[in-house]
Amino acid sequence: MISRRNFLKTSALTLGGMSLPSLISCAGGNENKAAEAAAPAPKEFIGLQTYSLGAELAADVPGGLAKVKSFGYTDLELAGYNNGRIHAGYGDGDEGYAPADYKKLCDDLGLNILSAHLGTPSQYKTPEAEFTEAWKKTVEDHVTLGCTYIVDPSMPQCATIDEVKQACDRFNLAGKICKEAGIQFGYHNHNNEFTKLATPEQIKEKREEIIEMMKKRFPQMKPTDEMINGMMRRNAPGTMYEQLYMDNTDPELVCFQLDVYWCMIGDQDPCEWITEHSDRIKLLHIKDRWIIGDSGMMNWKNIFTRAKAVGIKHFFVELESDPKGRKQFEGVEKSAQFLASQDYVW
Ligand code: MG
Repeated sequence: MISRRNFLKTSALTLGGMSLPSLISCAGGNENKAAEAAAPAPKEFIGLQTYSLGAELAADVPGGLAKVKSFGYTDLELAGYNNGRIHAGYGDGDEGYAPADYKKLCDDLGLNILSAHLGTPSQYKTPEAEFTEAWKKTVEDHVTLGCTYIVDPSMPQCATIDEVKQACDRFNLAGKICKEAGIQFGYHNHNNEFTKLATPEQIKEKREEIIEMMKKRFPQMKPTDEMINGMMRRNAPGTMYEQLYMDNTDPELVCFQLDVYWCMIGDQDPCEWITEHSDRIKLLHIKDRWIIGDSGMMNWKNIFTRAKAVGIKHFFVELESDPKGRKQFEGVEKSAQFLASQDYVW
């Protein structure tokens, strides 16, 4: 199984071949200047994906969660479930807690466990009976935790439309088992979901179209494979994976958690996705280069305003590790301060 860390490394590597997001309607200025000037206002909801803290939280889970609460976070999305135990990060560095004990710890601190990330359904090639048995136990543990959502953050390995359909069947099954237990299942994107998957016929047709176009525009030139492949990359045929997942899953069983940062890195406009897929996107991941609001590349006002307009109620702050080596707790605290200071954050 691909760990989330490895997956993110893979995702990041793909960025070399992609343009930075165009400055579309969700890109914006440095809002932390405004944050400094505005008076903090308590928010009813600020969610945190606990993956953001990883090993730092593992060093002292009760103390770390108390800090999270003191920063203004109200809700958690967990990321460290493994074999019936809840770990701080991805099982790194701590023994973990039984679900009931972890829930009590959070209840005592006034933190609500709203959601959890679990990558298992994306491993859709596991035989169905084996998956179902393991998934039922996993879902049961998340009922104990009091989760409203379970979200798969790992992209299934699909090279064909048929494989996408098989993966989506597994998402539907995961969603059905969740629904029977009173939990909503969802899928979370990185940037690779915004690349396209095409059928062999679509690829052939596009290739012929490009060769024809090149012959007409540059009659004196013989197009090489390299030139044709370059044009193919810039004019890729097919459908984006994210759209294929939406098209091939049951809206009753599978919702979507839009990671707005990875959406931008995938050269997409998160506001457009939020608006056009308001029936499917129920949760957001609020992520920036590091501290929310610091980079200036995300237009948080537009994103939060658009999300509110379509009825999205919940979001989770998520931070990767800091390339500059600052403490994760520092980034998590400053991100909460930024969000608390913005009047458009609901
Ligand atoms: Mg995310």
